Amino acid sequence: MELQVTGKTALVTGASGGLGAHFAGVLARAGAAVTLGARRADRLDDVVAGLQAAGHRADAVSLDVTDEASVAAVLSQRRFDIVVNNAGISGSGMAIDMPADEWDRVLATNLRGSFLVAQGAARAMRDAGSGGSIVNIASILGLRVAGGVVAYTASKAAVVQMTKALALEWARFGIRVNALCPGYVETPINAGFFASTAGQALISRIPQRRLGQEAELDGPLLLLASDAGSYITGATLAVDGGHLVSTL
Ligand code: NAD
Repeated sequence: MELQVTGKTALVTGASGGLGAHFAGVLARAGAAVTLGARRADRLDDVVAGLQAAGHRADAVSLDVTDEASVAAVLSQRRFDIVVNNAGISGSGMAIDMPADEWDRVLATNLRGSFLVAQGAARAMRDAGSGGSIVNIASILGLRVAGGVVAYTASKAAVVQMTKALALEWARFGIRVNALCPGYVETPINAGFFASTAGQALISRIPQRRLGQEAELDGPLLLLASDAGSYITGATLAVDGGHLVSTL
């Protein structure tokens, strides 16, 4: 079975940059008609234009995953075969000083937002009798912890558990729900940190002794999104150079 999604429709949330824009490109190149969502749709213009110029089918929607009305406006109108719940924020700060608002903000985006999008997408899939694949972008920080990101780790752990619960409930509709847990992936935003002493120390704790590259998420994403993964649901797939099995 090839890792192709030809003829499928796909939605990627938080797609104006970073991994979301990358995932949209991966799905488009694998044959999907891709809809990119972001709070400000104009921020998607360049990515969408680039995909269209390369001969792919792509469009943009305004989508704030924390806003129930915004999610409903997209997902009550359109059905997607594939949904990538990518929008996320990291938040920061030590737990002892963390304002409740900061906790709420991270959970609202990463957990509640992922739930709203998954629920809206699943309702449309169920109503159409089409089934589908939902890929929740969690993190290795949903499976282990680090300091200074308590809300993020809690939110991603909850996304992993939500993924399993949704997979259980929605298998009857032919909907698969899986979690992709990237480890530390090199992006322009984090390049500065990983060049620092602290960043190099972190890399030395990854068994493969290097950061992941965005392209190393392509196969795992397509496995979960495409029919190649037709019997995979409720799974948690870590792509982390062995970081989760680093020695204690
Ligand atoms: P990023 O900050 O570049 O991208 C996150 C995107 O989500 C941004 O485009 C942002 O505008 C969008 N977003 C935030 N709040 C939103 C909302 N309310 N509605 C819609 N969009 C919203 O970060 P990234 O590194 O590309 O991360 C993408 C996903 O991958 C996140 O869920 C993140 O937790 C996860 N992740 C990233 C890494 C990594 O190494 N980059 C590792 C593990 C997990």
